[in-house]
Amino acid sequence: MNDRLYYDDSFLKNFSARVVDIREVSRTSGVSLWQIALDRTAFYPTSGGQPGDTGILTATSRNGAVLEVPIEAVEEDDAGHVWHFTRKPLTAGTEVHGSINWDRRLDHIQQHSGQHLLSAVFARELEAPTVSFHLGDAVSSIDLTTGPIAHHSLERVERIVNEIIAEDRTVTIRAVARDQAEKLLADGALRKLPEREGTIRLIDIADYDLNACGGTHVRSTGQIGSLLLRSTERVSRGVRVEFVCGLRAAAAARHDFTLLGRAAAALSIGRDDIPIAIERLQSEVKSSTKDRQRLREDLANYHATRLAVEEMIRDNLRLVRRTFAERDRDYVRLLASRVCATVPRTVALFIAAEADPARIFLACSHDIDLNCGDFLRSSLAAHGLRGGGSPDLAQGDLPRSQADEVASGMAGRLRQLLSRPHIDDD
Ligand SMILES: [Zn+2]
Repeated sequence: MNDRLYYDDSFLKNFSARVVDIREVSRTSGVSLWQIALDRTAFYPTSGGQPGDTGILTATSRNGAVLEVPIEAVEEDDAGHVWHFTRKPLTAGTEVHGSINWDRRLDHIQQHSGQHLLSAVFARELEAPTVSFHLGDAVSSIDLTTGPIAHHSLERVERIVNEIIAEDRTVTIRAVARDQAEKLLADGALRKLPEREGTIRLIDIADYDLNACGGTHVRSTGQIGSLLLRSTERVSRGVRVEFVCGLRAAAAARHDFTLLGRAAAALSIGRDDIPIAIERLQSEVKSSTKDRQRLREDLANYHATRLAVEEMIRDNLRLVRRTFAERDRDYVRLLASRVCATVPRTVALFIAAEADPARIFLACSHDIDLNCGDFLRSSLAAHGLRGGGSPDLAQGDLPRSQADEVASGMAGRLRQLLSRPHIDDD
C-alpha cells in the first residue's frame, strides 16, 4: 500500500520518494508507456469524479545528471496501489523528488470542495441528494435526485453556498472505524457513506456538513473562492446541475461579460438593454416576415399576369417555360401555381436554378387534361431522376447542367400530348 501524502495534506506540492515498482504498459511506434509505483506519493489518482494529478518526478544520478520524468496521468488499481504513468522509465530503487502541477491541483481542490458544499446545501434546503459528481475541463456537474428546480431555489442555494464560503468555516479531516461511521449515518450527522470496509475518511465543514471522501480538499471554505451555478438539465435520474468554483467562476463570469459586451456593441445599446432590444428585434422580424410574404404574393400575381401575356396560346395551349437563375424555389413554386390559376389552357414548366441541384416545377390550369405528378415522375425517371406531386403541381430535383435539356424534352412531349384537343384517340 502506497503512503498517500495528500490524505494528510492536500496542499503538499513537493515530496521525496523511492521507486518501488515499474511496469511497461504498452508500446506504440517504438515509444513505451510505463507505470511507476512509489513508496509514498502526493499525486492524487483519478477517483470519485476528480481527475488525477499531473506533474514531474526528478531523479539525480551519482554523477549529478538530472533526469526529469513527466507524469501524464495517475491511477489507482483494484488493489489500491497508485500508479504514475510516464513515457520515461526509472529503475526500481531510484530516489526521486516529486512535484505536482499545482495550478491544476488547486483548481481541482476548489471544484471538488465546492461540490461538497453545494451537495450539502441542496440536501439541506431542497432535500435533493447528490447521486454523482463529475469534474470536467470547463465545468463540473452533480446529478441530484429531484424534480424540476425553480430558478429562485437555485439562486437561494447559490447564495447560501457563497455565504458559507465567505464565513470561511474550517474544513477538517478525520478517520473513523466503519461501525462509527454507520452510527453517524444513522444519527443523520453523516450525509453519505460509501460501500467500503475499513477506516472511513470524514470531511467536516464546521457545523454544516460531514461526508465520507478520499479526495483533496480546502482547509477552510474561503479557499473555494466562490461558486457560480451555470445550467440545469433533466437527466434520467433527476436533474444535472453545472457549476464552477474559484478562478473558474471568475473566468466564466468574464467570458459571459465579454459576450454581453459584444452583443451590446452589435446592437449599439447598453448591456442591460439587451433583452428588451432582442424582444423588439424579434417582433420587428415577425412583422417584416409577414410584410415580405404579402409582397411576394403580390409580386407573384403581377409576375404571373405578365408571363401569361408574354406567352401566346398556340394550338389551344399556353405553354410557359422559364428558367429562373435568381429566384428561390418557394417563389418559383408560388409563381407556377399562380400562372395556372390566373389564365385558362395554361401549363407552366419552371426551373428554379438558383441552387444546384435545380428544381423543376410543372403546373397546369384546371381545364387541362394532365396529371402533372404522373407526367413529371415518368419524365424524370427516364433520366434516372425522381420527382412527383399532385395532378395540379409537381416538382423534382435535377443537376443544373441537365435542367435545360430535360425541360426542353418535356415541353416537346407536352405540346404533342396537349396541343390538339379535338384529335381522336389513335
Ligand atoms: Zn471530497
